[in-house]
Amino acid sequence: VRDAAAVAVDAALLAGVLMRTGEQPLSSDVVNYAPFTLLPSAVPAALFEQAYAVQQDFNLLVDAISQNKEFLEQTLASTIKVDDFTARLFRIHKQVLEEGLAQTVFLGINRSDYMFDCGLDGTTALKQIEINTIAASFGGLTSRTADVHRLVLKVLGKTKEASQLLPNNPSKGLALGIAKAWELYGSQSAVVMFLVEEIQRNIFDQRCVENELWNRNIRVIRRRFRDVFEKGSLDGSRRLYIDGQEVAVVYYREGYVPQTYDQQGWEARLLLERSRAVKCPDIATQLAGTKKVQQELSRPGTLEKLLPGCPEAVARIRATFAGLYSLDEGEEGDKIAATAIADPERFVLKPQREGGGNNLYGEELRQVLEKIKDSPERTSYILMDKIKPQPALNYLLRAHSPLEVSECISELGIFGVYVRQGQKMVVNKAAGHLLRTKATQHADGGVAAGVAVLDTPYVV
Ligand code: ADP
Ligand code: MG
Repeated sequence: VRDAAAVAVDAALLAGVLMRTGEQPLSSDVVNYAPFTLLPSAVPAALFEQAYAVQQDFNLLVDAISQNKEFLEQTLASTIKVDDFTARLFRIHKQVLEEGLAQTVFLGINRSDYMFDCGLDGTTALKQIEINTIAASFGGLTSRTADVHRLVLKVLGKTKEASQLLPNNPSKGLALGIAKAWELYGSQSAVVMFLVEEIQRNIFDQRCVENELWNRNIRVIRRRFRDVFEKGSLDGSRRLYIDGQEVAVVYYREGYVPQTYDQQGWEARLLLERSRAVKCPDIATQLAGTKKVQQELSRPGTLEKLLPGCPEAVARIRATFAGLYSLDEGEEGDKIAATAIADPERFVLKPQREGGGNNLYGEELRQVLEKIKDSPERTSYILMDKIKPQPALNYLLRAHSPLEVSECISELGIFGVYVRQGQKMVVNKAAGHLLRTKATQHADGGVAAGVAVLDTPYVV
């Protein structure tokens, strides 16, 4: 195992499974390998195929929600009374609709995440954790992990198993979607702008997509909200310019946490949303990815209203839903709050936040819910049934960490890409997968949050 781990780390570095360090997040002088598992993890074939098969349905659903002003308004009405971040996003959404959209081409890049829920009888079921409609990451780095795991299996004498690892390149699929949107925007000299963070540890993941675009002779620039505030402007027909360059596509890899936005950040976001540029995602699509929307989708009849005439798609989508519960004021919310306080291990309490580390579990869930159960604040959360996957043993390889075996669970993400021009869907695809694995001692958290690591599915 020790030998294999040494081979694995060097292979990861060679393959470009990289991250900048916490100490030097703005420089590539010193980099680390991104954390990953020594071994691929088993994923049941039927669930893997099910996740792929439902992705186009989810693309259609997200796109339908983003165009349904009334649904977003009704669904988020209680949330925006108490959650300032969602309220501010919603205000921009309303404002751009009132002005009239200048944008005519729409690009969605999402990632639907699942765990494999293990029933008492030992059967497993695919259950969606959430769908990320903004800044869904690791499509680049994960396209390189299969090669690393293939090598590790060979080192361990598992040549046959090594040949069974599937090829996977989400960054290419993402880039193809961006390229299509750029083409439909219709200005040869316009650029694609990656809207990036102040702290750029995960730059290599983004570079994978950027380089695919350069390979297609599409120019890419990287800018922060601050740069947009200082240098961005719209012309008379609301074309977006930054530093004198016209922007065809804005690809957000930032903008999903409140801390991003100071007053200038909000002004920059509004400018971008008002523009003709293709935003990935536009603000309505970002709102479609909120936890509150996810919870409302699980109500009987909601999917049917959003996807009329698509009963098969509705059934495929619904089959992946775990139990989700509204904590809105009223009898329904009172009842489920009391149930969760009595039996917190059954649930996860989720605020309207993204990026990992925000959810509440167990005793902490009970305490928080006890405190807010009679206040309007509780409506900023939703409750969800806790998914309980079967753990497996693996080694989580992290720079500067000892090599030790951990009990682990995995989360499978499927990337979806779609492009719509006016009312016509031009592209609707699944673009690859991401498997992330974490030790069971951590209830929450993704790779960027330092909890989960990159993995490769070994489909069984
Ligand atoms: P975020 O937007 O912060 O990524 P998620 O809903 O994806 O929020 O939750 C973060 C993490 O918490 C997930 O990656 C998963 O490990 C864990 N988690 C979330 N929901 C559940 C659930 N219903 N059951 C078990 N674990 C969950
Ligand atoms: Mg998540």
